[in-house]
Amino acid sequence: MQLSTETSPQTHLQSYLEGGTEMGALIRSYDWSGTALGAPDQWSQSLLTTIGIVLKSRFPMCLWWGTELIQFYNDAYRPSLGNEGKHPKALGQRAEECWPEIWPVIKPLIDQVLSGGESTWSEDQLIPIYRNNRIENVYWTFSYSKVNDTSGKPVGVLVICSETTDKVNTMAKIEKTITEQIIARKKVEQAEEMLRLSIEAANVGTWHMDVATRKFIASTRMKELYGYYPDEEVSYDDVLNRIPEEYRNKVRLAVEQAIASGESYSIEHPVTGYHDQTPRWVRALGKLYPGTSDHTAHFSGLTLDITEQKRDEMRKNDFIGMVSHELKTPLTSLNGYLQLLIARMRKTEDTFISTSLEKAYVQVKKMSTMINGFLNISRLESGKIHLDMEIFDLDQLIREIIEETKPTLQHHHLSLSPCLPVSVYADREKIGSVISNLLSNSIKYSPKGKIIEISCITHDGVAEVRVRDEGMGIKPQAIEKLFERFYRVETKHTQNISGFGIGLYLCSEILLHHGGSIWVESEIGVGSTFHFSLPLAT
Ligand code: ADP
Repeated sequence: MQLSTETSPQTHLQSYLEGGTEMGALIRSYDWSGTALGAPDQWSQSLLTTIGIVLKSRFPMCLWWGTELIQFYNDAYRPSLGNEGKHPKALGQRAEECWPEIWPVIKPLIDQVLSGGESTWSEDQLIPIYRNNRIENVYWTFSYSKVNDTSGKPVGVLVICSETTDKVNTMAKIEKTITEQIIARKKVEQAEEMLRLSIEAANVGTWHMDVATRKFIASTRMKELYGYYPDEEVSYDDVLNRIPEEYRNKVRLAVEQAIASGESYSIEHPVTGYHDQTPRWVRALGKLYPGTSDHTAHFSGLTLDITEQKRDEMRKNDFIGMVSHELKTPLTSLNGYLQLLIARMRKTEDTFISTSLEKAYVQVKKMSTMINGFLNISRLESGKIHLDMEIFDLDQLIREIIEETKPTLQHHHLSLSPCLPVSVYADREKIGSVISNLLSNSIKYSPKGKIIEISCITHDGVAEVRVRDEGMGIKPQAIEKLFERFYRVETKHTQNISGFGIGLYLCSEILLHHGGSIWVESEIGVGSTFHFSLPLAT
């Protein structure tokens, strides 16, 4: 107070109104004489002191003064007014005029404070305000407290506030994320429940094996399929031992390979129940689940009972086998008679009869190939394929097959080069059917007038036969599946070419049984070369 008496009125005023960058300058330059407060030199000491506090504070503050609640605010408060609309009009404005949109909310608070009530406290309260030319949802934490004049009469309301919109929005986002996670977890739980119900409904056995310890856990249904009682402990070896010996290694290998490669496996095999000694067929599927922070690496799988399906398949195979076998005999004799007739008619002049006979012969040949295919397939599937092994000249067999195929080869140029004498120990008839199949495919899948080349070479202890054509070729994606049962490449070129997709499957199975192999190189529009190899006779 000592100081104030010594300073001039002007300096005295300045000392209160100094500070604050934008708002300080605005308050100092504002023409206050037009307001109910009058010019600053008429302002009361308490107004000046409070404005001094507001201006210097870095906390957002707003002050309403006098009966008209004339408004002041500082730099920290200023951003809450947005960039368009309220500021700088809000300075010196009557609170009611500045805040019509929230007046019903804040008026009671102002009255409460001015009438001597306690200071208010509101946290993260939504007070939508008009700024930036629109109503915005703004959250605030604020307190209203009264300011008295020197006589102790309440004359103003100091608002200390902080906009918490960002905090509230961030919290809302976190809450939303958590809710979404809860919903997602619920969905996973529901999916797991559905899966459990489906497994139960489908009567599927399930099992689980720790990769490191080989601890094996089997479901009741799994134990049942392997002929064990529900409460019995069953180990991985117990399960393997229920698989007949000829399949056991294959299954063991498939599981080990799936564990090593991390890929899934699917295999069909028979089992003989432990207590009930019941023979069953099952399909086993499994996959490795690598270790995570939650669990160790484990292998999980499903086992389905496919006994009925297998029985049906076997019955179908037996039927096809039986029918094909019965058809073979009359066809063979028909074939013989036709060959006899063709030989005879060659000596006569009657071209009509001889060409008709040749056409009939081609059709009979096609039919025998088909029937042989069915017969072989049914034998293969029922594991009854039998190889009549003998030592024979492969080059000789190739020449014979070409001779037999000649009638269907009229429209292509055949070249046999080179084909050195080579002996193999194999089933002559079945290897003949492989050559015949490859040759008839190269005729079927290449246009008239093109060259078909057969060659036979030896290397590394094997005889290798190649059948090359200049046909339509095979796309890379199809090559992988070419040797699968019933697989045919679906294109508009192959649509009108008849076939069952069993020829190449049979070829590969026959070669597999001989310890040989079959493969193909092909380019679309350029042609295909099928190769097969057989161990040489020692
Ligand atoms: P099919 O000829 O009875 O359909 P295959 O098992 O002999 O059955 O052949 C399987 C498929 O492979 C055929 O449908 C055909 O699309 C394709 N294919 C076989 N040989 C050739 C070839 N030489 N050129 C082009 N495609 C071929």
